[in-house]
Amino acid sequence: MSKTSEPRSYLVLENYIRGQFVPCQSHIDSYDPSTGEVYCKVPDSGEEEVEAAVAAAKDAFPGWSDRSPGQRAQILNKLADLIEANLDEFAQAESRDQGKTITFARTVDIPRSAYNFRFFASSALHHTTDCSQMDHMGCLNYTIRCPVGVAGLISPWNLPLYLLTWKIAPAIAAGNTVVAKPSEMTSVTAWMLCKLMQQAGVPPGVVNIVFGTGPKAGNAIVGHPDIPLISFTGSTATAQLITERSAPYCKKLSLELGGKNPAIVFADADLNQCIETTVRSSFSNQGEICLCTSRIYVERSIYPEFLERFVAAAKKWKTGDPTDDSNNNGALISKEHLEKVRSFVALAKSEGGVVHCGEGVDQLDLPERTANGYFMPATVITGMSDSSRVMQEEIFGPVTCISPFSTEDEAVSKGNGVRYGLSATVWSRDVGKVHRVARRLQAGLVWTNCWLVRDLNLPFGGMKNSGVGREGGKDSYHFFTEVKSVTIKH
Ligand code: NAD
Repeated sequence: MSKTSEPRSYLVLENYIRGQFVPCQSHIDSYDPSTGEVYCKVPDSGEEEVEAAVAAAKDAFPGWSDRSPGQRAQILNKLADLIEANLDEFAQAESRDQGKTITFARTVDIPRSAYNFRFFASSALHHTTDCSQMDHMGCLNYTIRCPVGVAGLISPWNLPLYLLTWKIAPAIAAGNTVVAKPSEMTSVTAWMLCKLMQQAGVPPGVVNIVFGTGPKAGNAIVGHPDIPLISFTGSTATAQLITERSAPYCKKLSLELGGKNPAIVFADADLNQCIETTVRSSFSNQGEICLCTSRIYVERSIYPEFLERFVAAAKKWKTGDPTDDSNNNGALISKEHLEKVRSFVALAKSEGGVVHCGEGVDQLDLPERTANGYFMPATVITGMSDSSRVMQEEIFGPVTCISPFSTEDEAVSKGNGVRYGLSATVWSRDVGKVHRVARRLQAGLVWTNCWLVRDLNLPFGGMKNSGVGREGGKDSYHFFTEVKSVTIKH
């Protein structure tokens, strides 16, 4: 932690409160994961900054919630236009801050961030409410939906701008004002977004962004009595703390958490398509997507062929300098996280697992500039027991385990045999089998013969320890509004 008067070469971020950039007294170091060097100073906000942000959001609420959905939609669309107009600048910043490749940021994170605003601008125009046809005791009954007030939004480091805008867009489209906090490790694109607010015509106080750590700034948001709802994306451990901290205030909670997502590959699958997609679903964004595949169960009759072909494809998944367009993966988020991911590979070896490629097997050829970066190659492991920590815990890195199964029942039981239930993929040409298995899998999202195809109208979220509630189209609208039943006697 460092105090004021930093050398000019650092990027120094400021909080965004009431439409103004506000300097903070102390800062947190933020690292470029590809070099291991500090390059940015992030405000280390606490209760005082959160208090100012909540006051601004409360003041802005009456005016913003009074606007029609159409008026608000115009502003959201303008924000989308501005992000798109600055796409390259945002993509470079996201890559430097998070470690992901510029290509990934340019084709996934930033376009999808712009689309979040565009989607929810449009979606907010099309919701309807209920009206009872029954003339019950001479009354007409119907429902209306009203924004809740000041929304507290907390997001993680893996898809920084994408996951933050996934919350800001539906919250403000529905007429709420917000106090948001991105991860302290990836704050730069959120700060860049603040610069676009005024240009887009977002009134002061509608969107306030407070930067800082979870235990300080995050905790102050969760414990603030004037924030009646929290939308959180992050780890299951943090969600438990948030649930406890918010319980005395009876807050509305949406919790989007970790996963240990299975792929189930039947013998009749299109193996070309399956292997290409499952390599991508296992390793994209360094394996740092909550929806990444980390357990692959393969029907025994095709297991040897699948393993050989999958390992060959994984070896071609290139890891290196995130600015090099020919690389598939860049650096992991932090030194600590790299060490944690590596420790799972060491644990696998100590338990008799076989590491077919990646960590400890393949050397990375890194340019001098990135010699101290947090890189790890795509790693494939077999031979693990289902009860091993490697098969049970979220690793959140470029590591996937492959294991055989004999029957459909066994595949489903293995797929469901963890405490998580976020997503799953099923590979088969038999439509009946696909339906049966999708229905039995305990996961909020099941992709069959594809991965990460996202229709934002559909409910997104997990079951078991992967979350509480759903977000997306109508579900986000329901979360960010309160429903009221109105009865009129005529
Ligand atoms: P994390 O839980 O450590 O942090 C997430 C956010 O919560 C950060 O902004 C952090 O500062 C804040 N935070 C930490 N402690 C807090 C506290 N006590 N009170 C309030 N806020 C607090 O998670 P992470 O390491 O940033 O992200 C990785 C995790 O996120 C993985 O488990 C991943 O699966 C999950 N994730 C889930 C989804 C999903 O949609 N289900 C999407 C992306 C990531």
